[in-house]
Amino acid sequence: MATINENFLKLQAGYLFPEVSRRVRSFQAQNPDAKIISLGIGDVTQPLPPAIIEAMKKAVDDMGTAATFRGYGPEQGYDFLIDAIIENDYKSRGVDVEPDEVFISDGAKCDTGNIQEIFGLDNVVAITDPSYPVYVDSNVMAGRTGKGNKNGQYDKIVYMPCTAENNFIPELPKTPVDIIYLCFPNNPTGAVATKEILTKWVDFARSNKAVILFDAAYEAFITEPDIPHSIYEIEGAKEVAIEFRSFSKTAGFTGVRCAFTVVPKQLKGATSDGRVVEVNPLWNRRHSTKFNGASYISQAGAAAIYTTEGKKQTRQIIDIYRGNAKLICESLTKLGYKVYGGVNAPYIWIKTPDGLSSWDFFDRLLRKANVVGTPGAGFGPAGQGYFRLTAFARPEDVKEAMQRFASV
Ligand SMILES: *Cc1c(COP(=O)(O)O)cnc(C)c1O
Repeated sequence: MATINENFLKLQAGYLFPEVSRRVRSFQAQNPDAKIISLGIGDVTQPLPPAIIEAMKKAVDDMGTAATFRGYGPEQGYDFLIDAIIENDYKSRGVDVEPDEVFISDGAKCDTGNIQEIFGLDNVVAITDPSYPVYVDSNVMAGRTGKGNKNGQYDKIVYMPCTAENNFIPELPKTPVDIIYLCFPNNPTGAVATKEILTKWVDFARSNKAVILFDAAYEAFITEPDIPHSIYEIEGAKEVAIEFRSFSKTAGFTGVRCAFTVVPKQLKGATSDGRVVEVNPLWNRRHSTKFNGASYISQAGAAAIYTTEGKKQTRQIIDIYRGNAKLICESLTKLGYKVYGGVNAPYIWIKTPDGLSSWDFFDRLLRKANVVGTPGAGFGPAGQGYFRLTAFARPEDVKEAMQRFASV
């Protein structure tokens, strides 16, 4: 009989969102008249803007005519999109990125999950607690960790707690690490890293020969002027960092699927016999072998985000979510909650009142306000006693939810 990859058996059951749904369904069954509002799941709600729809329609038409039909495209993505990314996301911020450093994909979830394949299994991985679950689980599947404990944490991973005490910015690891996952603006805490903080991390990675895997999926939500949008705005970062971006939250592409990863040519890794090799060709090889390119239609839509109209229209949608975030922060602060995030991120991270556990507050909020959020403990033990709300709902729902919070 074929044997299996037993590392998969170490994974703890995907507990968070199924358990949220289970409790919501059970409450709704007992309270059929309750009009439940969800500020829980991190998916966008606004439709795609017209400039992007037009570009995708045109791309569909291209597919219907022999002269403009496209079959397999380059695995790394079309130049028209790569050039627009370089010009708008990097050159405009004084960052030099070359076309063969950009890899278009169908999502940052796949890229952040797959990137670990090009690194050795003996690397020590550092991950924030709480965090986006993909970073941990993909390393468990690969066999880079030991067994899980009852907290849902795994041996061999170095966890970096992020709580109000450190402003949700992890401390530098005190033990040696090789691969560091950072996500700013952060899901779930909504925290951002200043230039000074990112410089500290880049310097740490350079002096410890570590690699930073920088997830910037929420870059478009940065509002404050002194917050870096790319880790490459930090000097020396191209020697140590891979950056992940996605059009999912930027432009409502969660259902369309398009993202990209930047792997700088300066970034190097070691072989077991001590040779130093470039990492970029490894990702290129991995990507070309296991991926056949994002759809032409998705890439045409993504390129339209960078047109004058596209920029204006996507900005308007982000402003809607920002308005939601502002309303949530202001309303809950007024009600006496300790509120974090929400300024440069679509996530609002609150301290649960009365010392309640994350799940006890979940139940209270559901019962008293018929509002659903996400228990912070579901993102890691350091999230215990916190609760995540998202700004991705419709403004009228957010308004109503905030009124209901008064009775919680
Ligand atoms: C939503 C999200 C992504 C983007 O995922 P896609 O696969 O591009 O839709 C990446 N990282 C984090 C932390 C996210 O929350």
